[in-house]
Amino acid sequence: MLNEKEILRYDRQMMMNHFGREGQEKLKKSRVMIAGAGGLGSAAAYYLTAAGVGALRIVDKDQVDLSNLNRQILHWSPDIDRLKVESAKEKLVKLNPEIDLEIRKDEINEGTLPELTAGCNLILDGLDNFPTRYLINQQILRQGIPFIYGGILGMMGMTTVILPGQTPCLKCLFPQAPPPQKFPVLGTTPGIIGLIEANEAIKYLVGFGSLLTGRLLIYNGLEMRFSEIRIEPNPQCPVCA
Ligand SMILES: [Zn+2]
Repeated sequence: MLNEKEILRYDRQMMMNHFGREGQEKLKKSRVMIAGAGGLGSAAAYYLTAAGVGALRIVDKDQVDLSNLNRQILHWSPDIDRLKVESAKEKLVKLNPEIDLEIRKDEINEGTLPELTAGCNLILDGLDNFPTRYLINQQILRQGIPFIYGGILGMMGMTTVILPGQTPCLKCLFPQAPPPQKFPVLGTTPGIIGLIEANEAIKYLVGFGSLLTGRLLIYNGLEMRFSEIRIEPNPQCPVCA
């Protein structure tokens, strides 16, 4: 049940067709894991918090660095050297005290993943590396939890929604990880991709609209174009086939 403040707070989104009070109650009952409180995670976390997702579990082991601040907008100058999850929680609680903000300063690995994902309805990608994404991909296939992938480079971004058993998995899409490297990025790129991830998360949780499934959306900020490619399942995929 929504309280009186929530009915006012979410009034404008509940006015939408196929959303209503019922949709808001579904959001309130949902728990989303945000893997990484960096650029993608910052954008997504602000909007999922504002929208009233009932519980957010934000996972990040790192501390805020000055060089993060061009894009990781959850963290402000006074937060340098603080844990990112603590900096994130401080802002998000002020934005919306109605939701349950869980923070975990854990590394995401095979040992921690089952506990980190337990009870979550969806996992949102705020990561910057493929080895961790592949671990999450394996875990979501075991548990049947949807995963929203988002990746960025410079002024390019990509995103898709992975539904275990229904869509190709991350390993079908990217059989090989690109080599790890320090990459350039303009802050607006993770902002845009992180918000598309949040948009798809809200649609999935409420159950309306059509999702970005079986398609990879590609954003080119330099020329300001969006394009998409169909994703096919790999019959030889070592993870989902
Ligand atoms: Zn696969």
